[in-house]
Amino acid sequence: MAMNRVQFQSGLSLPAFLARYGTESACEKALFAARWPQGFKCSRCSATRATTFMRRGQTHWQCASCHHQTSLRAGTLFAHTRLPLTTWFLALYLLTQSKTNMAALELTRHLGVCYRTAWRLKHKLMQAMCEREASRKLGGRVQVDDAYLGGERNGGKPGRGSENKRPFVVAVATDDEGHPGMAVIEPVPGFTTAAFKVWYTDRLEKDAEVYSDGLGAFRAAIDLGHAHTVIDAGGGRAACEVEGARWVNIVMSNVKRALDGTYHAFRYFKYADRYLAEAMYRFNRRFQMQAMMPRLLVAAARCSPWPESRLRNVPVFAR
Ligand SMILES: [Zn+2]
Repeated sequence: MAMNRVQFQSGLSLPAFLARYGTESACEKALFAARWPQGFKCSRCSATRATTFMRRGQTHWQCASCHHQTSLRAGTLFAHTRLPLTTWFLALYLLTQSKTNMAALELTRHLGVCYRTAWRLKHKLMQAMCEREASRKLGGRVQVDDAYLGGERNGGKPGRGSENKRPFVVAVATDDEGHPGMAVIEPVPGFTTAAFKVWYTDRLEKDAEVYSDGLGAFRAAIDLGHAHTVIDAGGGRAACEVEGARWVNIVMSNVKRALDGTYHAFRYFKYADRYLAEAMYRFNRRFQMQAMMPRLLVAAARCSPWPESRLRNVPVFAR
């Protein structure tokens, strides 16, 4: 089964990680390569010639054309922090190579930083994952299901529409043999036709065929020209055995279990976008464990700065 390939693949070992990223200068070189793969490029005028100088112990670049000055971290997710890059890189390693999600509290122990610092690191890196996944679209056969975060039971479906819960969607694309490909896992403003019209437009390719249960809002797919098949889970069969819904049910239960097992006091409602983006990012790279860390480094180098005030100021229903 495909999942065994995920569980038994070799990730990036700790000795290999330390050999590659064990010193501050090694991390600086890696960040430079992630940010400027073709060599320095001015963020203001795109010129490639610059002079370097040191300020407060940090290398700075001054563009030869427009004289704009920048540092390695400025304008990236690594801006506005005095944490050594070795600590950042260890966080990148732990969040991508661990088998299960790692909460900020556990990060504090591994990184030797206070909770607030670990929280910021974790949320900044989840934000990079979120932005990396923002443009993903699913094509082919797409199984879709809905659930809630928050409330008494994480992810249950008590009377679709309870208050103080955050509705979210799991969608999994499958190939002709029924094997799972990419997934989208994210909050939606509600399980309404209007919300699903927006969601389908954002997340489905034109050729996507939707498989879902009988919830009315899922039918918005038809209005947008997608084929739509309602999966009937009746007849005494367990939902996960129903053809056309197997993978979305597996992914849904894995997401719920991972969130329940890791984030006991997690504020689902407010930060659901990031927590679900983390689940989505990891799922979509499940066959490339080794590459996940350097890829997340590139995503972080291309992500704009997220100071704590911006991290905490989340419009709840923004997409
Ligand atoms: Zn310039």
